[in-house]
Amino acid sequence: ILTGKTAVVTGSNSGIGLGVAQALAAAGADLVINSFTDTPEDQALAESLARDHGVAVRYIQADMSKPADCRRLIEQAGRCDILVNNAGIQHVAPLEDFPTENWDAIIAINLNSAFHTTAVALPMMRKAGWGRVVNVASAHGLTASPYKSAYVAAKHGVVGLTKVTALETATDPITCNAICPGYVLTPIVEKQIPDQMKTHNMSREDVIAKVMLQRQPSGEFATVEQIGGTAVFLCSDIAAQITGTTISVDGGWTAL
Ligand code: NAD
Repeated sequence: ILTGKTAVVTGSNSGIGLGVAQALAAAGADLVINSFTDTPEDQALAESLARDHGVAVRYIQADMSKPADCRRLIEQAGRCDILVNNAGIQHVAPLEDFPTENWDAIIAINLNSAFHTTAVALPMMRKAGWGRVVNVASAHGLTASPYKSAYVAAKHGVVGLTKVTALETATDPITCNAICPGYVLTPIVEKQIPDQMKTHNMSREDVIAKVMLQRQPSGEFATVEQIGGTAVFLCSDIAAQITGTTISVDGGWTAL
């Protein structure tokens, strides 16, 4: 259903970004995948995605903490029918101890990058006469948790940016929405488990069940395939009137 479209997915050499890239490629889209690294593995990943799905895939290195890199990514892609703003990082600390450099990096990568990429992509979408912006926000774009000040602020910002982008493109054949995942077991979450084990003096299993999934009424992680499927749905023609909104994939977290 996405044959002939080119999708740019930021932060897509692992986790949710990779899952979304795979789902879009399976639906026929050509891909530009991205991270801040530039390794043989990154190039090999592009080649294997192209082979698996029979689509064109390029890896473009660009650091989403840098405005000029964000803009260069879209310019270098040359075409951007689907923009998935996914790159994101996390840091957990009480507000009064939160290091300024971590705050700045989270706001830059999780929020500002989406502003820069969207600003360059929208004229391309208008010219092409079709476009989809899918922002990967979070349940933390709609609710809060202690010790995640920068992340929660950035993700609420992404939801706000999603609404404004939708309004500014409302009369164009372009939509902009945010997917709000609950916990998905990806490297960003895996990295939080040892700290949480220490903080709560709990086993890995207990941290997962009693701390992380305690907020997720289903008691299960969401999967990268489920986030990918939601992105494909938002890119489909049936979703043409869905714009400026959030879709939670969180096992009931935000219903609580
Ligand atoms: P992840 O750590 O597996 O992936 C993050 C991706 O961003 C990686 O590909 C990484 O290379 C890339 N990245 C990091 N810094 C970058 C930079 N400076 N420039 C370019 N790329 C950079 O984590 P994930 O769980 O897949 O997270 C992806 C997105 O989903 C993030 O925005 C995250 O906030 C969001 N999210 C994740 C969860 C979850 O439970 N995993 C829940 C809600 C939202």
